[in-house]
Amino acid sequence: MPRQQTLHLERCKGGKAQPVPAVAPQEPAHCPVAKDALAVENDQQTAGIFLGTHTVADARAEPCDSIRRSRNLRGLYTEAIMNSPTQALNHTRSQALQQRAERFFPGGVNSPVRAFRAVGGAPPFVESAQGAWLIDADGNRYIDYFGSWGPMILGHAFPPVVEAIERAARNSASFGASTAAEADLAERVVACFPAIEKMRFVSSGTEATMSAIRLARAATGRKIIVKFEGCYHGHADGLLVKAGSGVATFGIPGSAGVPEEIASLTLALPYNNLDAVEAAFAAHPGAIAAIILEPVVGNAGCIAPAAGYLAGLRAITAREGALLIVDEVMTGFRVALGGALELYKLDADLVTLGKIVGGGLPVGVFGGKRKFMDMLAPLGPVYQAGTLSGNPLAMAAGIATVSYLQEHAATVYPQLEATAKAVAEGVAAEAAKAGVPLTLNRVGAMWTWFFTPGPVTDYDQAAKSDTAAFGRFHHAMLEHGVWLPPSQFEAAFLGTAHGEAEETATIAAAHEAFKAVQAE
Ligand code: PLP
Repeated sequence: MPRQQTLHLERCKGGKAQPVPAVAPQEPAHCPVAKDALAVENDQQTAGIFLGTHTVADARAEPCDSIRRSRNLRGLYTEAIMNSPTQALNHTRSQALQQRAERFFPGGVNSPVRAFRAVGGAPPFVESAQGAWLIDADGNRYIDYFGSWGPMILGHAFPPVVEAIERAARNSASFGASTAAEADLAERVVACFPAIEKMRFVSSGTEATMSAIRLARAATGRKIIVKFEGCYHGHADGLLVKAGSGVATFGIPGSAGVPEEIASLTLALPYNNLDAVEAAFAAHPGAIAAIILEPVVGNAGCIAPAAGYLAGLRAITAREGALLIVDEVMTGFRVALGGALELYKLDADLVTLGKIVGGGLPVGVFGGKRKFMDMLAPLGPVYQAGTLSGNPLAMAAGIATVSYLQEHAATVYPQLEATAKAVAEGVAAEAAKAGVPLTLNRVGAMWTWFFTPGPVTDYDQAAKSDTAAFGRFHHAMLEHGVWLPPSQFEAAFLGTAHGEAEETATIAAAHEAFKAVQAE
């Protein structure tokens, strides 16, 4: 029986698409319900029921009506999307929701880059998502290329994850006491990241990096931290110096509210430049506690490490008695099952994880060599705690996600590589045809189209991008049903639910979007 990937959208109710539970996009081995649904789906197709009742014309006439997608019908669905009327999408409900949100939240958001300030326009309000698709409050559908900023590598509402969360919730949302699930997820993390001998679960990437730095300072008795321009490690005070992500997006040199005394303990150096690192150690002998880095930068847009760069950092830190903290919050389980450490055969003293390890729920991890981790309370003098750390729902989602990735790594990662390559290069080819200067940086299923002739190997080069052109591109892509991260200084992501239909639709949307870029 062929593997299927399906998306079910029920009949439009009052202009709103109501998603119904979807069939697992991969082999539904973990999901007996999904298996039955898959069989029904296949039977229907075999009997010709589906093909007989849905045509491109139907889809055009009833764009929200019972759209069912499968691998062998991708062409149909894609055509339906691309032939949909070209008038501007209706955002009436999203706009009203934004106005209401602005009464309560600064900028109407609970995390700054969700606002579309850098690209213009108002962000759609999401009502639901299935697989690779987001559905907004006005019933518009978008192919999702930010995946909740990284976690949704298996697609939205992935049935094994949904079921795991439901099952865990029936036993109570939180205990504030230990559960077996914490060690279950930890065993899986250690199997994927051998550099992590011991770990602690926290609730965000910010907590993970902040705690790793406290540990590094305690372990070395030193105060200075080296980070790299354009890298973002969460919003702890000392890590906002020349940071990436929203800090770069909004052109904030560092954050107000961070005392100079704290900022002065952070040295921000250009990425991919070992000479700068050597010079920093020479200028601050015996004072640098750690280097923290994104092993593949995502938060200045995607920038790969130059050949020998990561090994060079490892050698310098080992020689200087400083710790190497590899922040895999974004890259962990994404660029490879074992993250950048596996991809680049790197070792680290401390590693931080987040995003995918929580399967869409709030989880961060910091871990590493036992001798450092055993300095944490209650064994040692470094204090770190969390009311919701190791939360049972979050552990359940993490286990469902990571176990799926482990069991299917041999197919998942080649598939992610192939789809990301096709989408990223396909769009770049459209830019070339349209005469738009573009530099594509990609590592596996994370990439950025920089609107600059390039190359882009550090933040200064990323900052040469034409952000106004990116804004026009972003807006035009959104209007054509493709939702990119709303900043030039963010990486795009895709997951296993993205396939040929999404690829074709995205490239076709880009063909139109580059015309809009050139028109202004
Ligand atoms: N580290 C990296 C590399 C990140 O990309 C992020 C967030 O995007 C963080 C840390 C902070 O994680 P969180 O937003 O969960 O606090």
